[in-house]
Amino acid sequence: MKICSVCAVDKEESEFYKMGAGHRARCKKCDSADSAAWRAANKEYDTARNAAWRLANPEQTAAAKKVWHQAHRSEANKRRRGWSDEKRAEVKVVAKKYRATNAEKIKVTERAWVANNREKVNAGNAAWKKANPAKIAAINARREADKIRATPAWADLEAIKDVYAEAAYFGMHVDHIVPLRGRTVCGLHVWDNLQLLTPKENIAKGNRHWPGMSG
Ligand SMILES: [Zn+2]
Repeated sequence: MKICSVCAVDKEESEFYKMGAGHRARCKKCDSADSAAWRAANKEYDTARNAAWRLANPEQTAAAKKVWHQAHRSEANKRRRGWSDEKRAEVKVVAKKYRATNAEKIKVTERAWVANNREKVNAGNAAWKKANPAKIAAINARREADKIRATPAWADLEAIKDVYAEAAYFGMHVDHIVPLRGRTVCGLHVWDNLQLLTPKENIAKGNRHWPGMSG
């Protein structure tokens, strides 16, 4: 037994943090109360120090985040279900703003997640596809229309067909190097603008594609 130098309570030694060969003078409870008080009084410094540590230790940070999220997931979901419509709308606005200002960062994270969760993504895509046949048909129709619109009279249709046959044979995706519906420029549906990508490369490029989706 040992008497704490702060609260003066006689406690088991296990109630004191180890220091060197012995134990600290104050008990764990008093120690953490002390650190909490210190953190509150040095908030800015503490926040900066924590941020610096996270930056210097990305792997530990990611692991800790994962553990924390897993432990709090059901709790957070329960809390979210209890939200009012106003709260939902409010969160939506904040999330939208965050996505807009961190678009690049989010893209990188999403691609990494997709690459690491291939089976889950495939299952999700298949389920969505099954539940949304009309949307799939619309997307396919739009892609077909894009291809027709982007196919000039001089396009070598036989050569294009060969590319698709080759892709099907090797289990690869046909990609338009310059997208048919690009943000700044629209590519053509011609042999020169086609390349074969592995499904993984196609996902990395940020293309949404699933088996059976045309083009
Ligand atoms: Zn104490």
